[in-house]
Amino acid sequence: ERVEFVGYFHQVIDRFEMNLPEHIKLLRDMPKGQYEVWMDKDKMTQVLDNIISNAIKYSPEGGEIRLKVENRRHHLQVSIQDQGMGIAYDKLEKVFERFYRADKARTRKLGGTGLGLAISKELVEAHHGQIWAKSKEGKGTTVFFTLPLMNQKRRGR
Ligand code: ATP
Ligand code: MG
Repeated sequence: ERVEFVGYFHQVIDRFEMNLPEHIKLLRDMPKGQYEVWMDKDKMTQVLDNIISNAIKYSPEGGEIRLKVENRRHHLQVSIQDQGMGIAYDKLEKVFERFYRADKARTRKLGGTGLGLAISKELVEAHHGQIWAKSKEGKGTTVFFTLPLMNQKRRGR
């Protein structure tokens, strides 16, 4: 279905705000205007739930999570940046594989199966987008994905 992405993303974040651990802060960085994307809302919600849950799960006390949408002309670039433990450079691609969990000892106590990002990758690619991550160990992680923009409505005059 045709969805205005920025409004939809705000709604997803609002839902997280209602049930947020006290020590976490969500910051929004959204463009002005309306950006129409062709997507399956339920599937995109699964993608965002996975990525935002990870950011919360791997955030330290007092951590800030920046949720950003950028207009890149033919697509939107969405990013979720945290200030958590980070992911080692040589594991940045592996975290998108099924059942892969970086640093077993550290993540075991946090729970999870290692499927979240693998599913997110499948779903983003089904929407003709790409997904990747950047990270600095001890500083934080940013997960990015893109979504093709639909032809924008022309302004009336
Ligand atoms: P699940 O999502 O299935 O509950 P999970 O969170 O362990 O389990 P993924 O979401 O696929 O699995 O993430 C894979 C691994 O990547 C994680 O186990 C963790 O080691 C690492 N990871 C993912 N997101 C972050 C993040 N924001 N900061 C640090 N490490 C991360
Ligand atoms: Mg996860």
